[in-house]
Amino acid sequence: MARPQTIDGKIDIKSLSLSELTELLVEQGHPKFRARQVYKWVWNKGVTSFHDMTNVSKTARKQLDEAFVIDFLEPAMQLDSADGTKKFVWELRDESHIESVLIPDPGIPGHSKPRMTLCMSSQVGCAMACSFCLTGDLGFKRNLRVAEILNQALQVQQSLPEGERITNLVFMGMGEPLHNITNLIRSLEVLLDESALNFSHRKITVSTVGLVPQMARLAAATPVNLAVSLNATTNESRSQVMPITRRYPLSQLMDGCRDFPLPHAKRITFEYVMMAGFNDSWDDAARLVKLMSGVKSKVNLIPYNENPQREILRPSEDHVKAFQHFLVKRGVQTSIRTTRGIDISAACGQLGKATQGMRIEEAGIEGPTISLD
Ligand code: SAH
Repeated sequence: MARPQTIDGKIDIKSLSLSELTELLVEQGHPKFRARQVYKWVWNKGVTSFHDMTNVSKTARKQLDEAFVIDFLEPAMQLDSADGTKKFVWELRDESHIESVLIPDPGIPGHSKPRMTLCMSSQVGCAMACSFCLTGDLGFKRNLRVAEILNQALQVQQSLPEGERITNLVFMGMGEPLHNITNLIRSLEVLLDESALNFSHRKITVSTVGLVPQMARLAAATPVNLAVSLNATTNESRSQVMPITRRYPLSQLMDGCRDFPLPHAKRITFEYVMMAGFNDSWDDAARLVKLMSGVKSKVNLIPYNENPQREILRPSEDHVKAFQHFLVKRGVQTSIRTTRGIDISAACGQLGKATQGMRIEEAGIEGPTISLD
């Protein structure tokens, strides 16, 4: 077993898989069934104290309390958009902040089912420095621990009225999930575990700027959906806005996508943020068609969300539709992402804005010591 993550010298129980917890508890003299019992309290009931585990003996509860911590996120702010989108700002133990966005979609009768999608963060800030993205302005602070990733799903689910459930999870919030791959993979394991959060891999999407070796590592670990933020069609233009292109040029990225093992009927989503005069010409559209050849793909056009910090403009709706039409006519499955939560800075690329005005600090503050693997 890898060294478990600890908080203040105690083991962070939410960083463990069920088999790891079983191993640890048996080592500590508990009966084997105890692990599943405790795991259910933590993940199904969402308790934050061992004292609430009423079917566990008092002595065992005390032992558990001495050895483990049940970590949770402090809600710092919640913002409600006129369109039903909700942004959750969380304060972490080191007083840094992250955001999650809940996006309800009523669906279209006879066409698409209602959905409740949670957009989750994977890091405090981001190291990828994509020039158009506001989260990049924060710089990179640190990776989220497993519990910090998972608690976003658990605590948002707990905040919902009886009968409402999160249906889909997307790692499209703050940070580059594949830059925090060890904790991401462990989190996915718990999200998929039926005795824990019990999501289907079909309903989870991990989005990346295109860290090619980590894409292969993710695929080897779990069959979740992959989304790649493409955003440009030549190495020259992509390098201008996404520095990662200098490490993994488009040819290498597309090879990595072609090699990505996809279960039957799955496709990789290519996100393409449309920026007027930068990547929305007909030459771009033609190059995009070429890039997609031989890849089981769908393109998701995201009209740029304008903001006062950048001079980048969103193309007109007509132009975005015409661009989509061009791709579809040439056999590329293409959709347009609806903008949600713009009034509360919860839309794509806007995360971090609300927290920027707040104090974001990293080290040197009093508080629990947190060990990262
Ligand atoms: N780092 C990962 C996960 C973040 S996803 C990744 O880049 O894929 C966030 C998505 O929002 C990315 O596709 C990014 O290209 C897009 N984005 C960033 N700023 C945006 C903006 N202002 N308008 C629309 N989309 C934006």
